[in-house]
Amino acid sequence: MNEANYFKELSKCVRCGACKSLCPTYLSALDETMGARGRVAMLGELGMKRLAPTGRLAEKIFSCMLCGACKDLCPAGINIPEIIYQGRNALKNSYRKGRVLRTALKLSMSRLDNAFAVMRVCQKVFYRPLHKAGFLGYVPEITSMPFRKTIQVYKNMKKTGRIALFTGCSVNYFYPELGNALSGILLSKGYEVVVFKGELCCGAPMRSMGLEQEASRLAEKNIELFSKVRAEAIISLCPTCTMVIREQYPFLTGDTIMNILDVNEFFIEYDITAGLEIDPAVVTYHDPCHLNYGIGIKDKPRHILKNIKGIELVEMRHADECCGFAGLFSRHFRKISGDIGRRKIDNILNTSAETVVTSCPGCMMQLESLRRETKSDFDIKHMVEVVDEAMHG
Ligand code: SF4
Ligand code: SF4
Repeated sequence: MNEANYFKELSKCVRCGACKSLCPTYLSALDETMGARGRVAMLGELGMKRLAPTGRLAEKIFSCMLCGACKDLCPAGINIPEIIYQGRNALKNSYRKGRVLRTALKLSMSRLDNAFAVMRVCQKVFYRPLHKAGFLGYVPEITSMPFRKTIQVYKNMKKTGRIALFTGCSVNYFYPELGNALSGILLSKGYEVVVFKGELCCGAPMRSMGLEQEASRLAEKNIELFSKVRAEAIISLCPTCTMVIREQYPFLTGDTIMNILDVNEFFIEYDITAGLEIDPAVVTYHDPCHLNYGIGIKDKPRHILKNIKGIELVEMRHADECCGFAGLFSRHFRKISGDIGRRKIDNILNTSAETVVTSCPGCMMQLESLRRETKSDFDIKHMVEVVDEAMHG
């Protein structure tokens, strides 16, 4: 969005307040400055130079979870998350809390393997004492073998087709087993599987810290990689990556560049999950915000679960309410993140389901963190693990 459009969008706000009705930070804090309407109003005042770019103002704009719950609620059609991204770009230098992180992101963005290798060593040495002292929440162990290093191409004699995986950072460094599960499913259905050599972060963490130019540079490099691989679809296990590639990358190419699918879409469109069966289990489903509000996928995961013989799907209350993770938000705004997350845990426990299924590695991290904190007893699975289990036992 260019500057002229940004101000035009801001000027459309009539202060009706519809956007704050589902805003999780507003509903938690019950403070106008922590809600969608307040943020749009403050950015409007900033644009008119009636508010100064102070640290306090920046904190309010960076306290948005970018969940997108407000996106389709505005009668004036304002894309509020996009407005927030632009606001962050303008206010990033006033957001002191983010200074270290911004520098770290800039330094590591094109050397992710090295950065995660260093973080792994730090995790080994410092994580346990810091976690015990309450300075750090739960963080899954960084793998010693990133997923992309384990495969480049899996050939398949059946040659049903060729599918590329956009692994994203969370699968590559924290949850390689999800990538393995998806590869196994694809191979058993006869597909050749490819990962992108040199894949970079999709750019979401950079945008969320106001680093628009850096995010665009990453996108340009990924687009170049995509153009070198022939595949009928690119699949992602992370809805944030899918949303960013689907919505932001076309601004750079001037077109829709590829068939990028969330794994749930892929399972349904390619008829992967028909006739599956699993040991009897009661499960509930948590909607990741970027899958539901971001790219509008809500029914497909439920359809998959309901059609696996043996699964009884019970809906929790407010399944589409955020889990409180929102990436870096959960580190900078731990109190609100925890409050929102504990509401989610209560809703899960009220179903008596033994497993909560979701479709986002970030949500898995947050749910696991709160499951441990509340000493709750349920399993957390990504959809790809459920399908893999039903397919391969
Ligand atoms: S994106 Fe989410 S947290 Fe941010 S203003 Fe909208 S509803 Fe609130
Ligand atoms: S819903 Fe739209 S018009 Fe109403 S307060 Fe929010 S941004 Fe403004």
